Amino acid sequence: LLQIYRPLNMIGFVYRELRQGLTDIEEMFKLLDRDPEITDKPGARPLAITGPVIRFENVSFHYDPDRAILRDVSFEVPAGKTVAIVGPTGAGKSTISRLLYRFYDVTGGRITIDGQDLRDVTQESLRATIGMVPQDTVLFNDTIGYNIQYGRPDASMDEVRDAARMAQVAGFIESLPKGYDTPVGERGLKLSGGEKQRVAIARTILKAPSILILDEATSALDTKTERDIQSALDDVSRDRTTVVIAHRLSTVINADEILVLREGRIAERGSHAALLAQDGLYAQMWNRQREATEAEETLLRTRNDP
Ligand code: ADP
Repeated sequence: LLQIYRPLNMIGFVYRELRQGLTDIEEMFKLLDRDPEITDKPGARPLAITGPVIRFENVSFHYDPDRAILRDVSFEVPAGKTVAIVGPTGAGKSTISRLLYRFYDVTGGRITIDGQDLRDVTQESLRATIGMVPQDTVLFNDTIGYNIQYGRPDASMDEVRDAARMAQVAGFIESLPKGYDTPVGERGLKLSGGEKQRVAIARTILKAPSILILDEATSALDTKTERDIQSALDDVSRDRTTVVIAHRLSTVINADEILVLREGRIAERGSHAALLAQDGLYAQMWNRQREATEAEETLLRTRNDP
């Protein structure tokens, strides 16, 4: 009986979450990677936003008590500013975004938004405040217009078009014979990683959250796509409190502060210029990435100009 009960329980759980108004399909998928014990405290209040200012205060976290993932992590994202988190794979970057969304509770320290501990506010209000642009966007088997409108179901078609324009994906959509009515997803048009990410950006523009979490794609994008996405992201994150898990040079340069995470600790922090001057881990990562970008550009130039 337990074997039947568990999946049923999971379906009930996912259904409740959907009813609570989650607006991103990715979020539903991510539910499978979270702690089902997270619930609202009795008497939890909706998050009241003034800034919003995000603070991590001496945060530690483990999934498994035998293995610390974050150790004594403290930082602040002032209202309207952008903090970029960089570091090797496995350093704990995505874990920070999961904690901010309260998929898990911290095991030490606390996280606050405008002074309110995440454990004291309702999950519904927390998730309505945060917009997430994930690495891999899962599209519904529906039209591309619907996939964008999902960010705010009561948005008008004009608003959908405006969001698509800001996300630099309107030109692509309008070039399709059926435009916004083009079916996408598994049974429709297959979009490239860059196109899907721009659909996710358009969706987030419609949702207009006060806090933005961006998880940049690690996969290689061509330089033009990268530039288009970057300018779309710059537009959405302007004047929004933003945490970006950064893989691209252009993002980190513009961030107000960069945190270099190594083995769950903040190993270095500062502006791009200050970190380069420090000539440590960040400077090494930067030089390695710059060499790779230069090699790619040289290759493209010789290909286009034989
Ligand atoms: P990053 O984003 O920097 O690559 P993550 O935050 O995804 O790193 O992961 C940090 C560490 O936590 C990794 O070693 C990863 O294997 C581990 N980890 C991630 N998710 C889970 C989970 N649900 N259960 C157990 N360990 C996990």
